[in-house]
Amino acid sequence: MSENPETVLAPGAKAERSPDAGARAAGPTASHSGYGPGEAPRWREYSKCIHCGLCLNACPTYRELGVEMDSPRGRIYQMIQVDRGKLALGESFVRHMDLCLDCRACETACPSGVEYGRLIEAARGQIQEHYRRPAASRFLRRLFLREILPHRRRLELLGRLLRVYQRSGLEQAVAASGVLSLFPGNLDRVSKLSPRMEKPFFTKQLGTTIPAIGPRRFRVAFIAGCIANLAFAHLNEATVRVLARNGCEVVIPSNQGCCGALHVHAGLRDVARQLAVKNIRAFGGGGLDAIITNAAGCGAVLKEYPQLFEDVEREHYEAAQAFSARVKDVTEFLASIELNRSFGAIKTRITYQDPCHLGHAQRVRQAPRRLLSAVPEVELVELKEAEICCGSAGIYNVVHSELASRLLRSKMQCVDRTRADWIVTANPGCLLQLRAGVRASSLPGRRVLHVVELLDEAYAAFHAGASS
Ligand code: SF4
Ligand code: SF4
Repeated sequence: MSENPETVLAPGAKAERSPDAGARAAGPTASHSGYGPGEAPRWREYSKCIHCGLCLNACPTYRELGVEMDSPRGRIYQMIQVDRGKLALGESFVRHMDLCLDCRACETACPSGVEYGRLIEAARGQIQEHYRRPAASRFLRRLFLREILPHRRRLELLGRLLRVYQRSGLEQAVAASGVLSLFPGNLDRVSKLSPRMEKPFFTKQLGTTIPAIGPRRFRVAFIAGCIANLAFAHLNEATVRVLARNGCEVVIPSNQGCCGALHVHAGLRDVARQLAVKNIRAFGGGGLDAIITNAAGCGAVLKEYPQLFEDVEREHYEAAQAFSARVKDVTEFLASIELNRSFGAIKTRITYQDPCHLGHAQRVRQAPRRLLSAVPEVELVELKEAEICCGSAGIYNVVHSELASRLLRSKMQCVDRTRADWIVTANPGCLLQLRAGVRASSLPGRRVLHVVELLDEAYAAFHAGASS
């Protein structure tokens, strides 16, 4: 049975008037807003919702839980109730907002143009600023999101330690002992989902420029990511190679940093803004045709940097717009240029999973499919519900592991029906989640790879054939 939003109103909850609520809401109910100072879900955005419910069946959490409060419509209703001062910004509200994957499938389904991503991200910003989470949660969020992720040297040190742990045999010994399940904070699950640290890290390439192979047609910059620098070095190298084979000179600025996607999704908008300013400066040089990313989650936030400066630190808004206008997902870029089609054949049956932040947030759906179809002898089989989240969603699979596992199981059932040998996607987080799904499945030999890794292999096959 659906939970009625009215029943979760905290009896007698008094909401303080936000000093900037008037400017924020500009709606008829702004004077009693339960939101505190700062950015918050805005009337001009949530008022577009006509409560039609067409988004419900697109929403993974509603499909799994069947609870209105865990649907897009229900969450928007709760946001409105908080703004009206009728629902406390308290435990119930936080629970339902936290359970959202921020996958934005509801945006695709919505006939009214509700920009749900903006709403949930602003709501999480409010939670971060004005709700006191349990001490352990506060500690872990602070440690990971503020003290480690934004700092490349600290992240690299952690990556080195993790690499020793993973390669020395210690990891297997600890896993076999079962000791991790005795610790709080889902440590067991974190360990199982931790990406393998690669050697060498891609950080070695920061500050270099990779020349185009053949005549230079474009000059692009590459965003190497933060965790991807450590755990997806091969993917980053394949991306740069594929770009170079397509006539791109690839600049990899050394002073770039984490894009801030995890911070935006977790509501740490102050840190996200600092990271955005850093990246806008790092990629500020002229003469670039595009700024390329191979991570859909990063790309969505990079394209939406201006949203971070609409109401706060307005002086960066125009620079953010100029930066974001040049950001392209690598598949989007390659599909927009005259593609180098010197591909060798790859005789395999593949299926493609749309990363939520590429399909729903960036509306890039056909580009990856066109690229995959360009490789000789690749048989692309469409995946049923390819646009439904696999359960990765940043660190959702760690924080809400039970629900994420249910989503992954459904995804793998759809994959099984395609009888595909390889699962192809376009986001590092999805690669990790789908690989976990393959490990747990009856067909453990299946490969999971990024679109550009497949293209890279097809180019290599062509050149191997040409030289033999
Ligand atoms: S589809 Fe759009 S307008 Fe309809 S309930 Fe969902 S968010 Fe609101
Ligand atoms: S972002 Fe995804 S999980 Fe959240 S309400 Fe929309 S469809 Fe549901």
